[in-house]
Amino acid sequence: MTERIDGHTILIGLMAYPIRHSMSPTMHNNAFAKLGLNYAYLAFEVDNDSLPSAIQSIRTLDMRGSNISMPNKQKVIPLLDKLDPAAEMVGAVNTIVNDHGTLTGYTTDGTGFMQSLKDEGLDIRGQKMTLAGAGGAGTAVAIQAALDGVKEMSIFNIHDEFWDNAKRNVDIINEKTDCKATLHSIEDKDDFKKEIQDAAIYCDATGVGMKPLENETLVTDPNWFRKDMIVFDTVYAPRTTKLMQVAEQAGVEHVFNGLGMMLEQGAEAFKLWTGESMPVDYIRDLLFNDDKVASK
Ligand code: NAD
Repeated sequence: MTERIDGHTILIGLMAYPIRHSMSPTMHNNAFAKLGLNYAYLAFEVDNDSLPSAIQSIRTLDMRGSNISMPNKQKVIPLLDKLDPAAEMVGAVNTIVNDHGTLTGYTTDGTGFMQSLKDEGLDIRGQKMTLAGAGGAGTAVAIQAALDGVKEMSIFNIHDEFWDNAKRNVDIINEKTDCKATLHSIEDKDDFKKEIQDAAIYCDATGVGMKPLENETLVTDPNWFRKDMIVFDTVYAPRTTKLMQVAEQAGVEHVFNGLGMMLEQGAEAFKLWTGESMPVDYIRDLLFNDDKVASK
């Protein structure tokens, strides 16, 4: 990497807290190196308090942009000059592009989700999706799937602080897209089972299945799934979640963790910053193989 850094190197950031565990620096720096692009991607510990000065520094240092993650995805919006329409609908930003001092906010989690399905030769346009979760990931997935042409969406949440967000997602989808969305409670197990059985894809965007809930899943009965459906968990650590195990037990053909989505949200941001396509097959190989990532 030192061979690539010189006086012309263009900086891209990742602003979040905590952030040291992130795979994004490995992903982007290896992609820059592979394509011979003179960029460097660095992670910065930025919380809500330091966010305004960190965002200003994108302009001051003429950085090309930054990724934004928790806890800053919503708080960053008033600090930007423009918002992409999808980011406006989602109400969150994970990518900033700096065009000569003008900062535009984008969200690439939803497009990453849809592209990861395309990579597998799967097309859910015109079909029904049942989705659990209405936080950052759930909202991005719901809005992008509706924008891209999913016909019907049943959104489930528990009655926690995200319930109103689930309601908002349903309202905005019905108002601004051709998708028909409905709101459901995860606590109503009969309804949950029925809506999963009716869907072409069940996506869990709750984080249940990730530490500290790695031994849990919202669906415990393999009979809730059909073999010909898609089961997608946005969690990528562990690689095989409890939900995925239940789906595999049911013989479901297409079972995915969130690694493909993570890769493709990065590829979308990479394209926005550099204008180039990320060498996704190369990076997928690198990220899917833990030993190689650990040795970088
Ligand atoms: P968040 O905190 O914003 O939202 C969490 C959602 O899960 C809310 O809807 C909440 O009501 C629900 N929830 C929480 N605990 C629950 C429980 N016990 N039972 C049922 N529902 C529950 O989180 P987020 O940022 O949306 O992340 C969710 C998951 O998606 C995490 O595992 C995260 O790692 C993953 N994620 C993956 C990608 C990717 O690229 N693959 C991108 C973003 C997030």
